[in-house]
Amino acid sequence: METVFIDGSTGEGGGQILRTSLALSCITGRDLHIENIRAARRNPGLAKQHLSCVEAACQICSGRSQGAARGSTVLDFYPGSVQSGNFDFDIGSAGSVTLVIQTVLPALSLASEASTVSVTGGTHNPMAPPFDFLCETFLPAIGTGGFWSSCKLIKHGFYPAGGGKITFEVRPRAKQSQGIINLCEASRQFQIKSRIYTAKLPAHIAQRQERLLEQSGLDIQDIEHVEVTDSDGPGNCAMIRICDNKRTTVFTAFGMRGKPSQEVISEVVSLAEDFLASGAAIDHFLADQLLIYMTFSRAGCYATNELSSHLLTNIEIIKKFLDVDFGIKEDGQIYRISCLPA
Ligand code: ATP
Repeated sequence: METVFIDGSTGEGGGQILRTSLALSCITGRDLHIENIRAARRNPGLAKQHLSCVEAACQICSGRSQGAARGSTVLDFYPGSVQSGNFDFDIGSAGSVTLVIQTVLPALSLASEASTVSVTGGTHNPMAPPFDFLCETFLPAIGTGGFWSSCKLIKHGFYPAGGGKITFEVRPRAKQSQGIINLCEASRQFQIKSRIYTAKLPAHIAQRQERLLEQSGLDIQDIEHVEVTDSDGPGNCAMIRICDNKRTTVFTAFGMRGKPSQEVISEVVSLAEDFLASGAAIDHFLADQLLIYMTFSRAGCYATNELSSHLLTNIEIIKKFLDVDFGIKEDGQIYRISCLPA
């Protein structure tokens, strides 16, 4: 089989190109040559978090890599055959544990037996899916496509200290699974809830954020404050969760030194307001993460409120590995994305 050549500067030019390529290389058994890794980022090349993804991909399929070094912008990956098992990955920084899961989950779902995966690193990081999103938004969404996994938070880890831990049970997707991801209808009946995390920070921060949420234009029915006591360092994020009886959409904004609570709350409120006003069924983060799972059945569709560059770039990368196509239809304020055989 021919090696797949990937230009890491395509579109978004970030780490997702690497993760999608590694996942599909494991699944298809095709060697991967990737250049210009994370060319569009301030600190191009492989960072610790991405090296953990390469290492994790090697471990689940007894694969080999060349060029897996800090700052490297070129990588060759030679996959073996995917084996289920018990895996324990330690990123060694606050790199996101959920992005390591994003790399190995598609291939482990195709293995013949179940796997358990533990990952140590950041569980609640800006620019990555927080644990709550993984567990409440992402897993139920891929569940509709026949992918049944579960996850557990063992210890919280915030950027920059990291040191959090999650465990993940991956069940193999039945070969004859009829599950097709079809998330096109917005919820008609839902509740809006909120969750504020603070770790090692003064009490007034959560109190202020709670007041700001109460004053927002959203009809928030419940505000939960989680005072984290097990993390290695400080952390703060505010979430808005739009819950119906089947699914929950989690939006998150992160607090950090020098960023006023007002900004944190207006960021997360705007994400939720834009989503609710659009009539979309799924948010734009989930939209880029679901594509790879739709390719298993070469079918499925969803309606989202933003055509992000992560989404468009992921489509380009998937098409380099698989004979598959995606339809994109603009419909008022929403985009309907469907997966089709090529
Ligand atoms: P870099 O580009 O610096 O390498 P990265 O490795 O984190 O960063 P990106 O290419 O930016 O990679 O991909 C980030 C992924 O995290 C995307 O799949 C995106 O949907 C997801 N993501 C980012 N923020 C959130 C959020 N708040 N909730 C859910 N998912 C998120």
